[in-house]
Amino acid sequence: MIGTQAPDHTRLERETCPGIPVIFLNDSTHSASAIHGPHNETSVLHRPAKLTIEGRNILDPVHLNPEQRMADLDRSTAAPFDVVVIGGGVVGAGTALDAASRGLSVALIEQRDWASGTSSRSSKLIHGGLRYLEQLDFRLVREALSEQTLLLDRLCPHLVRPVPFLIPLRHSVWERIYIGAGTALYDLLAGRRALPRHRHLSRRGMLKRFPGLRADRMVGGIQYWDAQVDDARHTLALVRTARAHGALTLSSVRVEDFLKSGSRVSGVSARCLETGRMLSIRASQVVNATGVWTDSVQSLAGRGRIHVRASKGIHLVVPRDRIHGDAGLILRTEKSVLFVIPWESHWIIGTTDTDWNLDLAHPAASQSDIDYLLERVNSVLASPLRHEDIEGVYAGLRPLLSGEDDATSQLSREHAVSQSVSGLITVAGGKYTTYRIMAKDVVDIVAHGLEQRVPESCTHETPLLGAPGFRAHWNRREELAERSGLHIVVIEHLLQRYGSCTQDLLDLIEDSPSLGEPIEGAPTYLAAEIHYAASHEGALHLDDILTRRTRISIETFDRGLTAARSTALLVAPILGWDQAAIEREIGHYDARVRAERESQEQPNDRTADAARMGAMDVRRLGLDGDGNNRSAKSSHGSEVVSLDERRKAE
Ligand SMILES: Cc1cc2nc3c(=O)[nH]c(=O)nc-3n(C[C@H](O)[C@H](O)[C@H](O)COP(=O)(O)OP(=O)(O)OC[C@H]3O[C@@H](n4cnc5c(N)ncnc54)[C@H](O)[C@@H]3O)c2cc1C
Repeated sequence: MIGTQAPDHTRLERETCPGIPVIFLNDSTHSASAIHGPHNETSVLHRPAKLTIEGRNILDPVHLNPEQRMADLDRSTAAPFDVVVIGGGVVGAGTALDAASRGLSVALIEQRDWASGTSSRSSKLIHGGLRYLEQLDFRLVREALSEQTLLLDRLCPHLVRPVPFLIPLRHSVWERIYIGAGTALYDLLAGRRALPRHRHLSRRGMLKRFPGLRADRMVGGIQYWDAQVDDARHTLALVRTARAHGALTLSSVRVEDFLKSGSRVSGVSARCLETGRMLSIRASQVVNATGVWTDSVQSLAGRGRIHVRASKGIHLVVPRDRIHGDAGLILRTEKSVLFVIPWESHWIIGTTDTDWNLDLAHPAASQSDIDYLLERVNSVLASPLRHEDIEGVYAGLRPLLSGEDDATSQLSREHAVSQSVSGLITVAGGKYTTYRIMAKDVVDIVAHGLEQRVPESCTHETPLLGAPGFRAHWNRREELAERSGLHIVVIEHLLQRYGSCTQDLLDLIEDSPSLGEPIEGAPTYLAAEIHYAASHEGALHLDDILTRRTRISIETFDRGLTAARSTALLVAPILGWDQAAIEREIGHYDARVRAERESQEQPNDRTADAARMGAMDVRRLGLDGDGNNRSAKSSHGSEVVSLDERRKAE
């Protein structure tokens, strides 16, 4: 169902809950305001793409594939950029889009895959954060709720969808008053939004909505609404939209040092982890948007003012039929809250909150993390979950601000922007939901350092790739199903992942009908999606496809091992893999899954980390056979010492 009006409450509940989400749009989604004027003279990059007709992509999808990548590597060193952004998580990608859509020339550099850090490992909620109300942080909640409305209504309605949550109550009077007041305030702070308001439920009402709850553990409950997103796909959409507005984007390129003009940062020295090539990328301003890597990157330029510490949170994924319920759950824990979130034909359960000082790229979930979540969730479930019910486990690291200098940290209390060295601006903290505000704040500071007039941010009216024309496609989904021969459920699955770019996948299937078949071992995904991941979405390794373009690695009991071979064979011609490369990719993936499984049987973080480190990173060029970093020559000829080497030396 789609509507341009505020939804009918009962219809919304009925139609959302079985996992077929409701998507709301308003007409501004379809405005052509996403297209902006030509870039300034220093831009050496893509021009904004052509307009297309009749609700199809207003922005021509910019292909991310190996050929394009090679051309981008060449272009990256050709002329200076206005701004280079380090870090391809949601904050870096959002910053690249903000800067590009203001007309600046931008390069975005990511050391691994898009969203491979925290931005693919969150709880996937686009929310105001009900619990921040207890800290009386009303401004923050209001800001996040307003971003939620913007994302749902205008920026990416194909990716963000509403979710109802139930809060079970254990005490009938004071708790109902307390939580009821909180949810009422939450609705109030959200202002006018297309989601229903909170509702009080009796015990019977709760059981009707969620029969899998233990009746003896509650006296009733409250229902309120938030939203969810596939975080990795959303970050990828930001990257591709930034490209459509002229940004150059490079994954598998690691920044290893800063270029300097006197004491001023004037660019980055980076290494392509696929080819070993060193790149000197010049820029007027550099933005450090590296999440939990903030301090290491900052230390390359001297001491910074913002410090980030990592806090680990893990999630479990279980099949939808293991818990009998129609909505999400939010439960109180000693430290925070625990979510049980509907996720298509699965549930996501999380999360934990513990300090983490070990490997930042591959945080590991231990057996005690898993036991903790099972124990908590089982305390309210009528049929307890067992270890055998777990399909997938993932761990992420929150980039939490610590010890920033209040005088220099600006803007919202949740994130900070600081310029500690001339030419280098750091942005850190915040949460997924507020990435756009963080991006706007940091580009405002970038603009001060440029010798040109820079327009105001326009990302609030810049829909992401796949959003323009989405509504028209959704309305025509039956016709699309009939024309393509695919089931309507498959068309809906595609529309909610690719929006109006679904047409690209249907074109692929028309040219090669076998791409319309499901993937062996992961039948909710089509072969066309795997093909598209490599031909349009910048996937360079098997892991990118099974973990982030799709979620096969956490949505199947064998964690994608069966799907790995057919996936590798499908993308081999696009990615130029010979038989040895195919076996190498499968071997890597297999080793990663085994190492993760072993880590999840370890009693604590240290042993879990050691087990996880048993599998090497697939992007390990620059590491010798023993996993140690090599140093390399930059294209300027100076010796560049890798970040990890510096960290070890410190
Ligand atoms: C368990 C958990 C649950 C969460 N749930 C939610 C939620 O439901 N809703 C919400 O709003 N927020 C949530 N968050 C917070 C949110 O996920 C993060 O705030 C956000 O993803 C951080 O994005 P980022 O871009 O700052 O960092 P990242 O996504 O980590 O991106 C930083 C990138 O920098 C790259 N990088 C580092 N060093 C270099 C280098 N030298 N060269 C090139 N690239 C480099 C990294 O590879 C990485 O990809 C959650 C976080 C966690 C951990």
